Amino acid sequence: MARSYDSEAPMPAGDSMHEECGVTGVFAPGADVGRLAYFGLYALQHRGQESAGIAVSDGERLSSHRDMGLIGGIFNEDILGTMKGHISVGHTRYSTSGSSIMCNAQPFIEDTNIGQFAYAHNGNLTNSEALLAMLPADINLEATSDSEILSKTIALADGETMVERIKAAMRVAEGAYSVVMATKDTIYAFRDPWGVRPLCIGTYGDDGYMVASESCALATVGAQYLREIEAGEIVVIDKHGLRTEHTEVVKPPALCMFEYIYFARPDSVLSGRSIYMARYQMGKALAREYPVDADVVMAVPDSAIPGGIGFAAESGLPYVEGLIKNRYIGRTFISPNQQMRSQGVQLKFNPIVENLRGQRVVVVDDSIVRGTTTPRIVSLLRDAGAREVHLRITSPPIVHPCYLGVDMATYEELIAHNLSVEQICEKVGADSLGYLSVDGLVSATGRENRDFCLGCLTGRYPAEPALAGAAPGRRSA
Ligand code: SF4
Repeated sequence: MARSYDSEAPMPAGDSMHEECGVTGVFAPGADVGRLAYFGLYALQHRGQESAGIAVSDGERLSSHRDMGLIGGIFNEDILGTMKGHISVGHTRYSTSGSSIMCNAQPFIEDTNIGQFAYAHNGNLTNSEALLAMLPADINLEATSDSEILSKTIALADGETMVERIKAAMRVAEGAYSVVMATKDTIYAFRDPWGVRPLCIGTYGDDGYMVASESCALATVGAQYLREIEAGEIVVIDKHGLRTEHTEVVKPPALCMFEYIYFARPDSVLSGRSIYMARYQMGKALAREYPVDADVVMAVPDSAIPGGIGFAAESGLPYVEGLIKNRYIGRTFISPNQQMRSQGVQLKFNPIVENLRGQRVVVVDDSIVRGTTTPRIVSLLRDAGAREVHLRITSPPIVHPCYLGVDMATYEELIAHNLSVEQICEKVGADSLGYLSVDGLVSATGRENRDFCLGCLTGRYPAEPALAGAAPGRRSA
């Protein structure tokens, strides 16, 4: 009997935060739905690089293929050639709950007394232990993640229909979940009542639909973006078309603000707002809040680039490329030892010396989490000849952990929880440091404060104390 799950996520390499998954769902009679899932997942690869999988239905039966690694390494022509049908569900995973092992790769396939379903989940539950306790004592859990606990909760819920079972599970599940499920003839796509993680829907061809974590996946396969799936909404797609239902559980909206700051691809649209333009406006707002006498503006690649361009536009300073990022350093990357570092081995970033030498440089970045990478970037720029380094950050200081599935840091680790802005500036070796305000950040998105989870920035989470029970790390103050 497997009755435990591993809530200890492995720590990410470097000083960044990590999203946990990307999901897709396709209902398109006559289309190559396995390949549509494949290309959709390719567009969502930034949301998870540990494992991936696709399940398809031909109307009679579900089949799936999943494995560890990147999409391009898992699927080939032979495998995709067998994935025929009119429905597909895709998943790419970054583990925040459960280890990076094969049994946690999704989609899961669940057997129920009303038929099989394939299940793909983005998010993190905050009451997994309570849900686990509601499941039969002899249940056989194959995975070690909280995603499987929700899929089992749905599979074993009361209800004559899948929608009734989903609603029953939504009554008891707490936390973040954007889910795509498929039975042999129907797609179900639903978001938790807070709407923490994104999920959007578009049309494909004349009578098809596609759902995905981000609109960039729709654009990649030629699907037309329709709208976000609402918080608490259950979209059902079958041969009769699309219909929606809602859970009766109502919560305040709480989209993760870091989708706008960092996670989502800049070419995605979230609630009608371009991620690129939101980041550009963050840079402009930062230039108004923290102007500086300097020569050039640069950004730390990749997610801070629109903010850097916005800062340059608002300040009138030229935008230059100061760092080139190696995009092929993954989680299994072998770090150089201290001696190699001191001899100048720099694998992640390399400077463009010609753009930096003798310059007073404004460096725009999207966040400082633990503060371990930032001093290396500052000294890299100084070594390349920068005369002054002024850091400007497009998020406010991260002073609290995330309880909703973002692999970030504990109170002990968060540099802004433990040091003042002046102390951080000194510690990272910058000449000045400015963080965007919460008001500046929210107004850059074109939305309202009340639309977001800002928990790690303000300490006000969408729900307490239930969510706080899942706090990573001890509260040190
Ligand atoms: S606490 Fe921060 S990272 Fe976590 S969901 Fe809220 S805004 Fe996103």
